[in-house]
Amino acid sequence: MTPPIDPDSALGPGAKRTTQPPCLDVGRLLPELAGRARTAVRLHPRRGPEPPRDGSKIGGAFYWPKGRDWPVCDEHRSPLVSILQLRKEEFPELGFPEREDLFQLLWCPQDHHPWAEHRVYWHRRGEAPDLLEDIPPPRSAEDCYLPTPCVLLPERVTEYPPYDELEQDCRDKIERWSPRELLGARAGERPLDYWGKDILDEPSTLYEWELSTCPGTKIGGYPSWIQGDETPVCRCGRSMRHLLSVASWEFDGGTFRRWLPVEEKHLANPWPKTIINAHGLMLGDAGSIFYFICRHCPEWPVRQVSQCS
Ligand SMILES: [Zn+2]
Ligand SMILES: [Zn+2]
Repeated sequence: MTPPIDPDSALGPGAKRTTQPPCLDVGRLLPELAGRARTAVRLHPRRGPEPPRDGSKIGGAFYWPKGRDWPVCDEHRSPLVSILQLRKEEFPELGFPEREDLFQLLWCPQDHHPWAEHRVYWHRRGEAPDLLEDIPPPRSAEDCYLPTPCVLLPERVTEYPPYDELEQDCRDKIERWSPRELLGARAGERPLDYWGKDILDEPSTLYEWELSTCPGTKIGGYPSWIQGDETPVCRCGRSMRHLLSVASWEFDGGTFRRWLPVEEKHLANPWPKTIINAHGLMLGDAGSIFYFICRHCPEWPVRQVSQCS
């Protein structure tokens, strides 16, 4: 038995976060979805000692070649801020260009249309003889877009398509589930969610909250839509592919039963900010920004979709 984790203590070596297995086997209940299972990488951002300049992390000082201008927002004439940096060997599933091995997401920490506007950079580590010593701070910023530096504790999980993206006959099938029977649960055995829904009586909510997409900041998999499917279409006419999500909260009062990590299960609602919102970003009303990529177009355009409740 691992001892309970103190959410405010520093992360020790070998720290990890683990998602509990799903309560139902979607692949068996909905065999038509078997080919649509995807792996998402939960990043589990947590506060800890800052990784090296070229390490995988949220916020902090990023790798940037000396002599190359740090990016500036044209609209606000202000330097961008570091949001997410990922090394290829730790996150190969992100999909890197052949030559590059470091991914960066930066954004302007001011309101755009509607939220922080991003830019993406790919680097080859070690190529620059020297790194930019002092990254310029933004001239002004909304605090909600400024991340507290975090380490990443990546974990791979299997996802199924969001309910919004399912065909009608598949949705009908879910609606006919009896979770009580499937789980062999008796009434009252699982506590009511504090939002007042008994998900044992609402199979589509059970599917959404526990069996399909993982909430929180992650790479790949499916977007955990808040306001329905808004998958962007690239200018080449193709649907873009979900690249990553930056979420305000790692889970919430609806999704915590599956997605609050096993190591932190002893912590009760209200969960410490260092767990549910370690990076301190607040996107709209606890919203998420979903990033999509097209790898058919040569410059690999990345578009963002912002949603909140
Ligand atoms: Zn701006
Ligand atoms: Zn395209």
